[in-house]
Amino acid sequence: MSTVLESIEFRAEALRIGGEKVYTDRTIDVRNPYNGECVGSVPMATLEDVRRAYEIAHAYVPKLSRYERSAILNRAAALLRERTEEASTLITSESGLSKKDSIYEIGRVADVLNFGAIEALRDDGQVFSCDLTPHGKSRKVITTREPLLGVITAITPFNHPMNQVAHKVVPSVATNNRMVLKPSEKVPLSALYFADLLYEAGLPPQMLQVITGDPREIADELLTNPRVDLITFTGGVEIGKYIATKAGYRRVVLELGGNDPLIVMDDADLDRASDLAVQGSYKNSGQRCTAVKRMLVHEKVAGAFTERVVAKTRAWKYGNPMDKNNDMGTVIDAAAALRFQQVVDEAVSQGARLLAGNLREGALYSPTVLDRVRPEMTVVREETFGPVSPILTFANIDEAIAISNGTAFGLSSGICTNRTDDVTRFAKELKVGTVNLWEVPGYRIELTPFGGIKDSGLGYKEGVQEAIKSFTNCKTFTLPW
Ligand code: NAD
Repeated sequence: MSTVLESIEFRAEALRIGGEKVYTDRTIDVRNPYNGECVGSVPMATLEDVRRAYEIAHAYVPKLSRYERSAILNRAAALLRERTEEASTLITSESGLSKKDSIYEIGRVADVLNFGAIEALRDDGQVFSCDLTPHGKSRKVITTREPLLGVITAITPFNHPMNQVAHKVVPSVATNNRMVLKPSEKVPLSALYFADLLYEAGLPPQMLQVITGDPREIADELLTNPRVDLITFTGGVEIGKYIATKAGYRRVVLELGGNDPLIVMDDADLDRASDLAVQGSYKNSGQRCTAVKRMLVHEKVAGAFTERVVAKTRAWKYGNPMDKNNDMGTVIDAAAALRFQQVVDEAVSQGARLLAGNLREGALYSPTVLDRVRPEMTVVREETFGPVSPILTFANIDEAIAISNGTAFGLSSGICTNRTDDVTRFAKELKVGTVNLWEVPGYRIELTPFGGIKDSGLGYKEGVQEAIKSFTNCKTFTLPW
């Protein structure tokens, strides 16, 4: 008999508008992807609710000192670390991510809060002397960063229910901005929990309001409300591009999909490379924008590498997400699992070879390996946002770079080789936002710049420091000196 808890107590949630909890007649059910149980409900906001949130945000002038912002963020981090068990169980209940993954996510969210607290204290103003050229003057230029005049709209995806939210909210708090957040309707409970944590830590509620609802009804208002100065969005390419066309004269930060390779050269230590391959593919149920979505392997070592990947895939435990022994829980829903099975079946019908997995039961989808994959197959041409390891081979570095650059995406990459000439070529020639040597493409710390090019992202990067830049206006002040 299993003693593993399967869900949380039902949470009937409310909008967070101007410090009030607002309930509505119409609601959206939130279901546990593992057992289908309804774990909560959130309001379907009306346009009136959304407009009211922007009016409240716009009318409020944040006055927190750097010290106060930093203290709030540090306090929230401490509260969250104390409540790791409760918060990770909430993430697992609404997303199906394993407890291993959700506990790890809580640590990341606390890091984001702590980094935000440090950055809130840092004045990154610059001072320029003006007597640098023959026509210079005896003056100085001082730069300062100011919060935006209007309100920030933040829209987040389902895959890291709390960390995606933290990466938008924390830089906003650190810079004294006002934000209206719309989390994914698939995982809204973690976002509301995070907002409450910040209020408890002392954040004025006008600086962060949370709206939930049906995007078909409210998304355009979130994008075009006249109070909105900046839209920060993380999610799929299709909606990202829609936002780009809809936003008009506004700053837009788009963090979109990925199709990241792990490239294994013929000199690589294959034990180490295959460890990275499976971790990069299956952590977070493969639902990371920077998950390993393609394994590009030198043909000389492909056989030995594939054997190792298959053995490690079979050992990757998946099942009940609440069971701490499992490495992997479900994917977000049964429809997603079905899609993975279909693209894998399609690849097999076109000549790929299934070596492990492709089993499905509701939203549970087994870690899956296939080789003899060609770049034109849907499973690697498009983003497969789940635990699938397609293995492709190449004959030389030119071909590896060409295959890697041959999709519409350009987010991140991982490289396994010890040859410095190859390393330098990859670092220079891969058309991506990040090249990680001997790490998974998803490796980062929460502070550092993060984001892609091509269809993977537009404009500014994320990471606490870069987000702070994009969420502020740089003002220069000049004076006689
Ligand atoms: P999604 O694009 O389906 O949804 C993202 C958000 O957009 C949700 O909150 C949704 O409600 C909202 N939305 C829906 N219609 C909208 C509209 N018309 N206008 C504005 N917002 C609308 O993405 P998802 O399925 O939740 O997440 C998976 C995707 O996110 C993958 O493609 C993944 O690669 C990407 N992602 C990117 C990054 C990154 O940093 N580059 C990180 C994580 C995930």
